Order: sequence, then structure tokens, then C-alpha cells
Amino acid sequence: MKFTDFPLDSKIQTALTKVGYETPTPIQEEAIPFVLQKRDLLAIAQTGTGKTAAFCLPILNNLVENKEKASAKKTKTLILTPTRELALQIYENLVLYGQNLNQKYAVIFGGVSQGRQVQAMQKGPHVLVATPGRLLDLINQKHIILDEVSTFVLDEADRMLDMGFMNDIKKVLKLLPKERHNLFFSATMPKEIETLAKTILKNPHKVEITPESTTVERIQQSVMYVDKPQKTDLLVHVLKEKTKENPKMKTLVFVEMKHVANRITETLAKSGISSAAIHGNKSQGARQRALKEFTDGDVSVLVATDIASRGIDVDGITHVINYELSNIMESYVHRVGRTARAGKDGAAISLVTADEKSYLKGIEEATSQKIPVDRDHPHHSEDAESAPTTSVGKAKAKMEAERKANRRGGGGGGRRPQGAASGGRHKSKKKASGSSSSDRPKRSGGASKRSTTSKKTSSSSSDSKRPARRGY
Ligand code: AMP
Repeated sequence: MKFTDFPLDSKIQTALTKVGYETPTPIQEEAIPFVLQKRDLLAIAQTGTGKTAAFCLPILNNLVENKEKASAKKTKTLILTPTRELALQIYENLVLYGQNLNQKYAVIFGGVSQGRQVQAMQKGPHVLVATPGRLLDLINQKHIILDEVSTFVLDEADRMLDMGFMNDIKKVLKLLPKERHNLFFSATMPKEIETLAKTILKNPHKVEITPESTTVERIQQSVMYVDKPQKTDLLVHVLKEKTKENPKMKTLVFVEMKHVANRITETLAKSGISSAAIHGNKSQGARQRALKEFTDGDVSVLVATDIASRGIDVDGITHVINYELSNIMESYVHRVGRTARAGKDGAAISLVTADEKSYLKGIEEATSQKIPVDRDHPHHSEDAESAPTTSVGKAKAKMEAERKANRRGGGGGGRRPQGAASGGRHKSKKKASGSSSSDRPKRSGGASKRSTTSKKTSSSSSDSKRPARRGY
């Protein structure tokens, strides 16, 4: 199948040729024809599957076909997405795919001044991409009115739930016209999301594309056991050794806390390794700059908190290093999924201390795999390898307590400060602004378990069947 097989406007086809898309990804193949028919869609898919084009392309086409235009302060299409990074990426894709169309697009998110966003809304954009906090903020200020929305996209619904955006979404839904075309995307379908989908969608076409396990299969995963004090030395060692093998290596290093990200970039600089950090305490400008430096290859290492584990789509990441394993198990799959994209190979290395062994066990159980141990390095710790695994619950509690203590100790802030919102609307109890929308307090409990179904399944209509849950 080729893109030219879709009845897409010739101007969109020209843009696709220019962008270099020839063959649709499975979700595009499954979703585009239905969205073109204005059928509601329930898609279980995450970033990396090509889902953005799966909804953007037919939406743009429908707008052209119906010659839809919005009045000032209004829009025809609302795309709600949880983080600034995702909002920007979707917007950039719209601009790319719609480069030959005479359409206007706007993107709004918190953490930056609202002036330009208000101006963009004055023009009545055909499509508005927004994070929920800033959207409601501007609605409350009467800069945005949603009564002309004919297509509504909810992106990363499960992530929205994780980040505490559920009430915001419900508020937005009340402001939308009842008659509309709805597209619903989620990486997983926990109960709350299933219920939400049912309230939004009418007779949806259902598509399920969860590529993690196939992606994970292509990723060369390994574990290196190490004692805590040697972790940074091991990181430097790994980066230097792997760079000898592949001088063009591009590495994403994941940490749990913002101050750790800062410390690591300083240490790496002393060892002659160029890196940038991206986390929620950085201003939006600093985050975009760090991402650009990494994308452009000006720095070879990007040190990130989980803010970057979803949505960031940087070409050619060769290695993901989990400097710290997350206490949210599903993060592992999302993190390692940043490499081995677009058919390329990639490696994921986890540096694991005795304390983190239970998390590793949880990951291995959830993904039904045993991650090979690499002992061939100077900092291998037998103690860490042979440490007993406590229950994952206990390990979580212990790690959380440690992190809280660290935060109290003025360590530069924890991973998800309470109340930091995407817009200025939610006043934080501890920190006021500047934090990422993805620094929302995370949901507790097991409802965030992820599915790692490897096969694509598609059934026409009915969202009544829950997708098989395996692992996360
Ligand atoms: P997404 O899942 O939407 O974040 O897309 C992941 C990446 O795949 C992005 O870099 C897209 O530009 C790219 N992409 C999406 N669809 C295609 C396609 N059909 N052919 C080639 N690349 C694509």
C-alpha cells in the first residue's frame, strides 16, 4: 500500500512526497480511510507508530474538502494532548503536511507567555493543538471559544489520566458542540480511559497498534549491576567505550530527578562528553534548545527525566541508558522505545543498583523477558546482582521515601512537583510555574499498567472489548 492509494488531496500528496513518506504505517493504513469517512476512531497506539499523521492527514483533507473555516477565537479542530513537547510536535507535523494548503494552525501550552497564542487564536485557526491547562485558561479569559469545533482529537488519553488532567478534559468536553467527529488515542485502556472513550465516541472504528514488544525485540537490552557510588563512573565508562564502537552514537540517558540530570551533565562535561539536560525545571526555551542541540548532533547525550520518555521523537537515537530505573514500571518500555525507531537497531542499557533490583524484576515479569546481564565492565557489582528482591511495592515505597528525603534536602526538586501545571491557571502549592505539564502528580495505584500486545488487531466498531493486557 502507498499513500497515493488514499484519496488525499493532491496538495497533501505533494507534501508527503516532499517529507519522504511513501508507505503508510499500520495505524495509518487502518485509520486514515475511516477518518476520511468521518467515522469516530478508537486507536490504541502510542508515539512511534506514526499516529500523528494517522489523524492529521485525514483531518487536513476533510478541512480542505468541506472548505471549513473558523471565526476569530474559534477553531474547527481541537487536538488535546498532555505535554508541551507533544503539542509542538503535532503542530510541527501539521505545518509540514499542510505546507501547500491555505490553512492556519495554532498551538497553545503553558509555561510561556500567552500573547502569541492569543494572537494566533484571533485568526481563527483551522486546527488548534492544545494542552488542557492553558486551553482552559484562555477559554476562561474569553480568548478561545469552542462552539465551532467539528473534529475533536484526544491524544494520549491514558497519559492525560496519569497526569491528572481528567477533570480538565471533562470541562473541555462540556464546551464542545454535541455533534462532532471524535478521534481517541491511548497507549493503553485502563478502566477509566475505557469509560471516557465510551462517553466521547459513537460507534467507533477500533484500531489497536501497540508496537512496544516488536520495538523491544529489536532493541539490544542489557543490565549492568553497579554500586551506587560508582554509577556515574560507569555511565562515563559506557559512553566512552560505546563511542569507540560508534562515534556517531546518540544517547538518551534517563534519570528520575531533575537535580541528578543537572549533576550528570556537569560530570560528563568534566569527562569531555558533551551533553544537555531536559527536565521540568528548565524553561520551555531551554528545553527546546537542549532538544535541538541533541537533534542536530551538537551534543551526543541528552539527559532527561521522564518528561522525554514519551513524545520526543529524535531521529537516530542509538542508545538509551537508564541511569536510574523508574518506579513506574511502564516507563521502561516508553524509555527504551526512544531507540530502534523507524526500523533501525538500538541498544538499551540499565544501570541497576541493589535498591533497584525489584524494579528490574517487575520489568522482566511485565515484559515476559529476562534482560541479559553485562558483567564485562570495571564497575560490576556482585552485591547488587545477588541482592534479594523485595516486593515491588516495598521497593517503590522505599525509593519514594528516599526521593522525598532528597527533595527536602534541597536537592533541586523532585521529579513531579505537586501542582505544577501546564498553564498559570493551577497555582502550585510548592512551585508556581516553569515546570512541565508532565510534572503533574502521578496517579497512584495499578491502573497505569500498560499493554504490550505485539500484534495489530482491528475490528470494526465496538469499544466494548478490552484489549488483552499483557505486562504493563
Ligand atoms: P509518531 O508516532 O506520529 O510520533 O511518528 C513517529 C515518526 O515516524 C515521526 O518522525 C514521523 O515523522 C515518522 N513517520 C510517520 N509516518 C511515517 C511514514 N508513513 N513513513 C515514514 N515516516 C513516518
